[in-house]
Amino acid sequence: MSNPLLEVKNLGIEFRSGERRLPAVQDLSFSIARGSTLAVLGESGCGKSITAKAIMGILPTPPARITGGQILLDGTDLLGLSPKAFRKVQGAEIAMVFQDALSALNPVVPVVRQIAELYRIHRGAGRRDAETAAIDMMKAVKIPDAANRARDYPFQFSGGMRQRIMIAMALALEPKLLIADEPTTALDVTVQAQILDLLAELQQERDMSLMLITHDLGVAAHIAEEALVMYAGGAVEQAPIAELLDRPAHPYTIGLLGSIPGPEHRGADLPTIPGLPPQLANRPSGCGFHPRCRFATDLCRTKAPHELQVSADRTAACHHWKEAMDEYQAAGA
Ligand code: SF4
Repeated sequence: MSNPLLEVKNLGIEFRSGERRLPAVQDLSFSIARGSTLAVLGESGCGKSITAKAIMGILPTPPARITGGQILLDGTDLLGLSPKAFRKVQGAEIAMVFQDALSALNPVVPVVRQIAELYRIHRGAGRRDAETAAIDMMKAVKIPDAANRARDYPFQFSGGMRQRIMIAMALALEPKLLIADEPTTALDVTVQAQILDLLAELQQERDMSLMLITHDLGVAAHIAEEALVMYAGGAVEQAPIAELLDRPAHPYTIGLLGSIPGPEHRGADLPTIPGLPPQLANRPSGCGFHPRCRFATDLCRTKAPHELQVSADRTAACHHWKEAMDEYQAAGA
């Protein structure tokens, strides 16, 4: 990828529990192009949110610890910044939207003041100017009757409107990169689509990069151009999303695609990936997916696969990606 905005290179994160060191993210590399959307996919516990927190500089240390690698934003390694310098990046260069807006917002402060605070702290704006800018931001995220609702408290808004307020706060300082961690999981399907459309619209208007963390392939397909599939703390497949959905290469991605509910499953059990993701303290030898993989061979049980080039812009960490991909295509033919 030429001139990416964000490059994560060989990132390692571990948790310490007493004397034990538990690897949460291992040798993770990916990048996000300027003005594009990357969907980061995978089951709970695969390392998506921990990676996002490391990029945002809000990893709880301890118990977490970054063991190696680089997080380059516009060529600057964020991991080399002092805490004071990192605080200047937070909000202004990178911002984050969380799943649960109600707990992320202050319940006893009117929403306009929560947004205005950012302009006051980071831009030194006076109270009146900061509140005017905050109301403009509420309008930008399409909160109806924004000027009249500005002094309402978070509990007076619906779940979808609260998520819009979170997005307004995240975008107030015009970050280059927005990380959205499961931003629609707590919302019903109609509101989910509205929030995704809003994120896509704002991303294009502002030429911002978006890292969308989700376990939902339908959500990813809605707005992302690229996809990164994670499993057990590592990248297992990276590809343009249209290609990933059409011709998945990694058996885990094939399993995820197979578990999307469709009309053909009516009245039948939904296919699932057998077994569970490995515990941090109990990672299998070789390929971390081998206990759940029907393509597994002795090689998989002993040797961890590295990223292999599937095509010019795709990689998969699998010894047998070609057989898996061919079988998937033959089944769909
Ligand atoms: Fe399955 Fe082997 Fe590929 Fe791992 S390396 S996903 S076990 S086929």
